[in-house]
Amino acid sequence: MDNCNQTIRCTVDKCKYHQNTKNLCSLDAITIGTHEANPTEQKCTDCMSFEVR
Ligand code: SF4
Repeated sequence: MDNCNQTIRCTVDKCKYHQNTKNLCSLDAITIGTHEANPTEQKCTDCMSFEVR
């Protein structure tokens, strides 16, 4: 995964799209969502493009 998107930084190393050494996402675009009915803080949001490694 050398041609990672330089603008999506991510530290979720259990995701199969994560680039370990650079902490980048290898997808061209990602979708962010929420699991909360009324999200109020950072931890309420999720990367919906996550797939387990
Ligand atoms: S898909 Fe989401 S969780 Fe996975 S590496 Fe990309 S930004 Fe991170």
